[in-house]
Amino acid sequence: METVPIGVSSGTASVLGLKRIRLMEKPTTAHVLFGEDCLNRCAFCAQAKGSRSAPNHLSRVTWPRFSWEALKGPLAAAISQGAFKRVCVQTVECPESQGPALEFLREVREMSPQVLLSVAVTPVSVARVKLFFEKGATNVGLPIDAASPEVYARVKGGSFERAWAVLEKAARLWPGRVSTHLIVGLGETEEDAVRFLARAKSAGITVGLFAFTPVRGTAMEKTPPPDVSNYRRVQLAAYYLKRGGNAEKIELRDGRIASIDLDRTDLRREVLAGKPFETSGCLYCNRPYYTERPGQVMMNYPRALTEQEALEALSECGLASART
Ligand code: SF4
Repeated sequence: METVPIGVSSGTASVLGLKRIRLMEKPTTAHVLFGEDCLNRCAFCAQAKGSRSAPNHLSRVTWPRFSWEALKGPLAAAISQGAFKRVCVQTVECPESQGPALEFLREVREMSPQVLLSVAVTPVSVARVKLFFEKGATNVGLPIDAASPEVYARVKGGSFERAWAVLEKAARLWPGRVSTHLIVGLGETEEDAVRFLARAKSAGITVGLFAFTPVRGTAMEKTPPPDVSNYRRVQLAAYYLKRGGNAEKIELRDGRIASIDLDRTDLRREVLAGKPFETSGCLYCNRPYYTERPGQVMMNYPRALTEQEALEALSECGLASART
């Protein structure tokens, strides 16, 4: 494999024994990063063109770089021991990222025919998505990030509908294997988020929810993260839709989620256990502390919640229909 340095998220590097940090929660997906100095200008992203963030950052995570030679043995061992059930390749939009990322996928697939393998790439074309599936990806993530055309144009630049067209076409070609990301807190309303989630659901697209986190050096460094109550309501709506709920039954008032019908017994049981507040997205992608620091409110729990945590998260929703 071409010898380019590969970014490895600090949590992943710790599980692999490549970095010594104390982990409060272990990641169950190994995250790696290809490329740097992105050509895109996403206002929230540390890798974006124009960002003054420290290098080797994405979200609030640091990504120390390692050679494939250093990474290969520990990664193979961690996969065979079941420490990682998925590997996710994040790519920065630059000419240098695609070739090595494809090569990495091929190597990992050769290493383990079974391990789940995701890649996250800018939704530019379906032809590009095909390249990643051909190299052994089980899932391709095409992050749209912003919930509405207005927020997309302001925060990312470009056309929301063009990005959705690639996403929806890919989902038709590879049913059940295409996902996207939605970042809550970029200036959208909860109604925008519900519309986004319902659209993704009707196209069979999995959504990974992220809470916006301001990163120093980015254009949005001074924007506060979303209010926990706002995030919890969107999490609850996302879970409700994922588990067969009907978007029409999410009551919206002045752009805000006012109530969600949780009458089904099985759904109610899962909600009371805190399932909606666990990290969402591809299976086994738990992303511990991706958007929050240890000790802060956990926007996404990387594990099952305790009874107390579930009750707190539910009451943070501030919805009468979500109370016990
Ligand atoms: S949900 Fe997780 S595993 Fe899936 S593409 Fe996003 S970051 Fe990768």
